[in-house]
Amino acid sequence: MSKKIAVIPGDGIGMEVMNEALKLIEAINEHDSFQIEYDVFDWNSDYYLQTNRMMPKDGLEQLQHYDAILFGAIGDERVPDDITIWEMIMPIRKSFQQYVNFRPIKLLDGIDNPLRHHVNKPIDFVLIRENAEGEYSNAGGRMFEGENRELAIQNSVMTRQGVTQVAEFAFSYANKHGLKKLTNATKSNAIIHSMKFWDQTIESVAEKYPTINYEKYYIDALAAYFVQRPYDFNIVLASNLFGDILSDLGSAIVGGLGISPSANINPEGNYPSMFEPVHGSAPDIAGKGIANPIAQIWSLALMYEQFDRQDIHDKILAGIQNVVSTKKVITPDMGGTATTNEVGDAIINKLYKK
Ligand code: ATP
Ligand code: MG
Repeated sequence: MSKKIAVIPGDGIGMEVMNEALKLIEAINEHDSFQIEYDVFDWNSDYYLQTNRMMPKDGLEQLQHYDAILFGAIGDERVPDDITIWEMIMPIRKSFQQYVNFRPIKLLDGIDNPLRHHVNKPIDFVLIRENAEGEYSNAGGRMFEGENRELAIQNSVMTRQGVTQVAEFAFSYANKHGLKKLTNATKSNAIIHSMKFWDQTIESVAEKYPTINYEKYYIDALAAYFVQRPYDFNIVLASNLFGDILSDLGSAIVGGLGISPSANINPEGNYPSMFEPVHGSAPDIAGKGIANPIAQIWSLALMYEQFDRQDIHDKILAGIQNVVSTKKVITPDMGGTATTNEVGDAIINKLYKK
């Protein structure tokens, strides 16, 4: 079995952490019959400064034929944020219908975290964020500009198809992985049109999965529960805006950006899904060789899971866990002195002892 993926390292530490992921792919190729071939694309801020584009005109067509995209990070002070985001990440997410944003919120043993004083049960759940519609829409506008009665309207757009398909993904993921409870993040007591529709649509999907306990919480309470009893969740389903907020909160309670992975998934598989660390290009530490490669390597593990190689995913995660809990080879963001390269090697050595 083999897959072909597109690799976009991007800017700053994106390039540094991607090297470690590629080393790991090579090691897995060497030891497993499952082969990943990859092509590296140099589309980043330098490319933009030379060509005035983040990617070529036919960039999306070039990417479309790959089985997945492994992405590093993008962002550079010489290029405005809205260009890097709107001319690269957003077009990929939207045209490849990656309507599921998938974030494991899992506290590894040995990771320092702000909840350590009062939470001593395992934190291990999945956050699913609707990634294609909802609150982040450009429907709306301003009226009466400059007058006292000036106003702005921003509309959320929730469609039956959009909500149903992300809910279907969440429930079937829960089913496949034996997760017992699904928590809906809502605010239908105050946002009475779109959020009521969100709830009703999710509840009609829930009826098809009677073995999964369904619960819903208002987003304000749920944010507090993430801190007070994060061990209580299995899978949390949230709209685009609520999911955005909960994913940063989720990342914070399990140890921060250096280790937080994510996936933008097109569940139908008619377009490539994209796997990327939550962090950005971190210009403050770029070029120093001290970026933590774990978020990138964990994102690679999610890619193997999406390719139905749960065993390889689990093996990579065990390798990461092993390196983190011995605390010998960890980068400065986790309190260590190791380099990016050393952490990458240590993880590979845990998988395939040399
Ligand atoms: P961008 O604009 O590209 O999103 P940013 O400056 O907004 O970049 P991030 O790059 O996401 O933010 O990271 C914020 C800070 O967290 C960084 O400046 C860096 O100090 C730290 N950080 C992020 N990722 C890592 C990592 N992999 N290893 C170590 N530190 C990291
Ligand atoms: Mg950022």
